[in-house]
Amino acid sequence: MTARRCKCHGQPMYPNKHSNGGWRCRVKVRVRQNARHHEHDWLVRRKRDLAAQRANILSRIAELEQEAVTSC
Ligand SMILES: [Zn+2]
Repeated sequence: MTARRCKCHGQPMYPNKHSNGGWRCRVKVRVRQNARHHEHDWLVRRKRDLAAQRANILSRIAELEQEAVTSC
């Protein structure tokens, strides 16, 4: 199998596993993978932020419940 070069970047191409005889631009594949990693990082960070917010709110509710109990 000879490595072809893409028209857009002149880089050697990957054979496309999903279409027989197809080729994929290595540069485009890498860009898409990077985008996916960034998206993943963002989701992980967002989840962590939300978990922290949730913990804050829950402890605030617990405090308010305590206040309500002691003020009666
Ligand atoms: Zn290309």
